[in-house]
Amino acid sequence: MPATAIELRSPGIDYAREYRALLSFLYQAPFGLMQIAPDGAIEMITPAAARLLLALAARPELDNLYTALADVAPQLPRLVREYRGPSGALCEALRFALPAGSLGPEASVLTLTLTKVGPQMLMAVLNDVTNEVRREQRDLDQRLTDLSRTDALTGLPNRAVAIERLQRLIDARREDESTPPFALILVNIDRFHQVNDSLGHAAGDEILRLLAARLNTQLRRHVRDDGASAPAVVATRVGNDEFAIVVDDLRRSDDIHGIAMRLLDVVAQPFGVGEQQLHVRVSAGIVLAAQAARTGVEMLNDANIAVNESRRAGRGRYAVFEPSMRERAASRGLIEEGLRGALERHELYVVYQPVVELGEEGDALRCTGVEALVRWLHPQRGIVPPIEFIGIAEDSGLIGDLGRHVLAIACEQFMRWRARLGDRAPGTLAVNVSRAQLFLPDLVDMVRDTMCSTEMPPGCLQLEITESMAAEDDEVRVALAELKALGVSLALDDFGTGYSSLSSLHRLPVDLVKIDRSFVSQVDSSNYHRVLVEATVQVARSLDLGTVAEGIETESQARLVRQLGCEKGQGYLYSTPLTAPALEAWLATGACAALP
Ligand code: C2E
Ligand code: CA
Ligand code: CA
Repeated sequence: MPATAIELRSPGIDYAREYRALLSFLYQAPFGLMQIAPDGAIEMITPAAARLLLALAARPELDNLYTALADVAPQLPRLVREYRGPSGALCEALRFALPAGSLGPEASVLTLTLTKVGPQMLMAVLNDVTNEVRREQRDLDQRLTDLSRTDALTGLPNRAVAIERLQRLIDARREDESTPPFALILVNIDRFHQVNDSLGHAAGDEILRLLAARLNTQLRRHVRDDGASAPAVVATRVGNDEFAIVVDDLRRSDDIHGIAMRLLDVVAQPFGVGEQQLHVRVSAGIVLAAQAARTGVEMLNDANIAVNESRRAGRGRYAVFEPSMRERAASRGLIEEGLRGALERHELYVVYQPVVELGEEGDALRCTGVEALVRWLHPQRGIVPPIEFIGIAEDSGLIGDLGRHVLAIACEQFMRWRARLGDRAPGTLAVNVSRAQLFLPDLVDMVRDTMCSTEMPPGCLQLEITESMAAEDDEVRVALAELKALGVSLALDDFGTGYSSLSSLHRLPVDLVKIDRSFVSQVDSSNYHRVLVEATVQVARSLDLGTVAEGIETESQARLVRQLGCEKGQGYLYSTPLTAPALEAWLATGACAALP
């Protein structure tokens, strides 16, 4: 057995000090060194090498490297035999896995490097790389968990991270109330599906990426620049077009409004996608720590409720969550559920409100047409007015089916009246088209098909749209032009509410303006309202548009709107909306009544 020492053949000079230093250095080296003869004989070995080789070797005798490693590295003699060069590596970092208990209490990994250093001399290095291997494994695991926690498209942390972070903040504050408050801002892109539908998914993805980058950099930078005590902001992607921003360390709760405004600002800048500059808007919902639910998931749900509330108030805004919103959302959920069934169970029906000509005083009342208004006969609640379910139908995507249903029923009824009543039948049928319907890709086909199957003459059909939506979108303008091309007429409903603008009237392809009830009802008591009604009638006339005053309830209102030049009227003074048989009865009697 060789000595566990290194012998240096001294060239005659006394290097005793250096020799001892080198010796102790090698003895303490964290790796093992061996000098080997070409036949495998171990000529010198350091203590570290002996310890490692013993753990590896089949037998406890350490006189020959090849025999010691015959089980785990039988190729060594061949490698040496076949190596032709004067010096160089024969094998590099050959790995050996050792079971727990052989070197330490846990499994270990050793490497062996064998190098030819002279014609008759090889050097073997044995290394315990257990720690490095473990570190590598940990890094790899980390990378893998990073992947499972990162959204692949945007590179932002994903939903799991958002929920985890929220949960940590919720728990921390529950434990210690003096922990600074936090907040969650949930951001949802308005009508994102339209971007995908009209520009393709690649453009949609690009917008998501750009938006994510802005949230991650601009918003965070802004918050950081605000001062030393500025809140920490983490942007995550939690759904297709949904981003959750967790704001931590919010020392002044007012700050959240500044952050939310900044957020809407950051998003409002156009996005360059390919050649185009695209504008998107988002709606946001905020949940403050004081209102936080018990879990991160619930908190995200609450934020979503707030997003929906904010969207209903108009897009491109934010709303702060309040617990009462939960009840509203639940009851909306119930209505939505009921509405799905209602369509199948035929619980929806249509009533008709006459539109009359505002002729000269003393003239007979002439009904020129009817407006179809939907009702829901709920099995428990009785008659539910449209105000309670149209918005929900829009939000839940049921509006397409609902609109088709109403149009079909109304057209069928209109044609029955024409067949039965002849001249006395209403001349036009007005049907409301809600905002969301104008964004449906099949609206024009639906109207065409329904007119076709019911044989409804296009000239008798009037579609009522609200002005705010008509003025807004290019897409809507295209839909309106296509509808007009079918031969139907368009009425601008609720004029005076929302984006009231006489000056934009000429840009819309409408034939008729319906002046909102809120103006008509005050026409005889408020100078302002009277002037507005008059101006509307004048502008409409100059553009060759008809006018209808909505919601006339008193004779004095009727007289005034007629004097101001309004051609037609609608309201309880003449008739409430009626079922089809009741309308027939009304036509037989009421229509002949003299005007006030
Ligand atoms: P709208 O299109 O402005 O319809 C007029 C509303 O005013 C109707 O309410 C009608 O009953 C009511 N009204 C008529 N005359 C008077 C009056 O003299 N005084 C008062 N106080 N109210 C009067 P309704 O039927 O509850 O409908 C409310 C809204 O729901 C409608 O407003 C319309 O925007 C929407 N809607 C109704 N049916 C449909 C439908 O089939 N599809 C769509 N998309 N929306 C509909
Ligand atoms: Ca209407
Ligand atoms: Ca109206």
